[in-house]
Amino acid sequence: MPETETRHCANCGSAIGNLETPRVYKNHAVCADCYQKLNRRFGGALDMHNPVHVLIVVVIAAATVPPLLGALWYFIRALMAQ
Ligand SMILES: [Zn+2]
Repeated sequence: MPETETRHCANCGSAIGNLETPRVYKNHAVCADCYQKLNRRFGGALDMHNPVHVLIVVVIAAATVPPLLGALWYFIRALMAQ
């Protein structure tokens, strides 16, 4: 039986099982639980290579930009009317 190196989660330090696939989070091997936890927090920044994050940004932009443009246009028209 080949000797396998015990891998540990870079986040919580718990052993990652030999049959468990370590997840990679920012070049650190982490356990599946920590990977989910860390991704829920977005790690402080959006990863624009992740299609889910891109979709979130597009949805937020689509929801916030048109009302802002509408408000800007309202102020420009109000200024022009004076
Ligand atoms: Zn962990």
